[in-house]
Amino acid sequence: PHYLAADDRYTSGMQYTRCGRSGVLLPKVSLGLWHRFGDTSPLESQRAVLRRAFDRGVVHFDLANNYGPPYGSAEANFGTVYAQDFRPYRDELFIATKAGYDMWAGPYGEFGSRKYVLASLDQSLARMGLDYVDVFYSHRYDPDTPLEETMGALHSAVRQGKALYAGLSNYPPEKMREAAGILKGLGTPLLINQHAYNMLDRTVEKNGLIAASAEEGAGVIAFSPLAQGQLTDRYLAGIPADSRAAVGHFLKPEALSEQKMALLHALNKHAVAHGRTLAQLALAWVLRDARVTSVLIGASSVAQLDQNLGILDAEPFDEDELADLERLLS
Ligand code: NDP
Repeated sequence: PHYLAADDRYTSGMQYTRCGRSGVLLPKVSLGLWHRFGDTSPLESQRAVLRRAFDRGVVHFDLANNYGPPYGSAEANFGTVYAQDFRPYRDELFIATKAGYDMWAGPYGEFGSRKYVLASLDQSLARMGLDYVDVFYSHRYDPDTPLEETMGALHSAVRQGKALYAGLSNYPPEKMREAAGILKGLGTPLLINQHAYNMLDRTVEKNGLIAASAEEGAGVIAFSPLAQGQLTDRYLAGIPADSRAAVGHFLKPEALSEQKMALLHALNKHAVAHGRTLAQLALAWVLRDARVTSVLIGASSVAQLDQNLGILDAEPFDEDELADLERLLS
């Protein structure tokens, strides 16, 4: 079926924010393909979510070499949809991939060596059918490889035209600073840091990552802003059979303890009283900090995506509401 992107994709509410001290604008809401884009999910539902996202101005898609299952299949499926629907729009899209976690067997299939990082990028480009990605990330800090080597590999990828920008994910703040210094020296400034950030996980506030990122001139993109779906109405009445807590391996049912559920119900009550859904509350809360460039959501359906994009028309928080939320969260 032939796809034509919605004419109003840039006038229907999406906002774009500058990513650190770069020339790149990113949408306030970006879409990740970690779950629900592997070979265990129907391609038609993947296509529907991807099309809807682009139709609503979500121009940034986030992937990694090992998203699936099986590893690589999210990139391959994205490549299929890209070839059928998105190819005419390549210059309107900002596509990310990463290397760092386990991808293939043997000593060269994970972490931060030049050998692994550059081979992985070539594989990713082949699976997606792309000449280049917009940002290529080192997916995690490797304590056993010199930072100069890993940053040198990101810089080479940019020099070779296989990536336009370099990003870091899950680096401790002090290593991120060191890496950013190396990249700057090479002439490939760090574009962005990608970390977990949500109402239930405030590590990046506490460890100074957000502040350090701003000082280095890099943007911040917050992954799992809904805590993998916990900060939505998904689990308020139990664990649905098709939910990530039931079918995935990364969100354990044990995470939904009685204490956690009490907090989620309280947050939900607060959200509803303020005319939001819990998901919308959670996303707007992450974006209350202007140093956060974008929230990187997942969505298993168009309805979830649409609900989450509802934050774009919402009123900003006032101080009283933020204080109320702080009390609930503490
Ligand atoms: P979220 O916290 O947004 O969780 C998304 C999940 O929440 C969906 O798959 C869905 O789960 C549920 N959900 C979403 N919206 C709604 C809604 N409105 N109502 C009810 N349920 C909803 O993010 P993810 O954990 O999926 O992470 C997002 C992206 O971040 C990833 O795709 C990836 O690109 C990136 N990421 C990066 C990491 C890194 O190390 N750099 C690590 C983790 C993620 P369900 O399937 O149950 O419907």
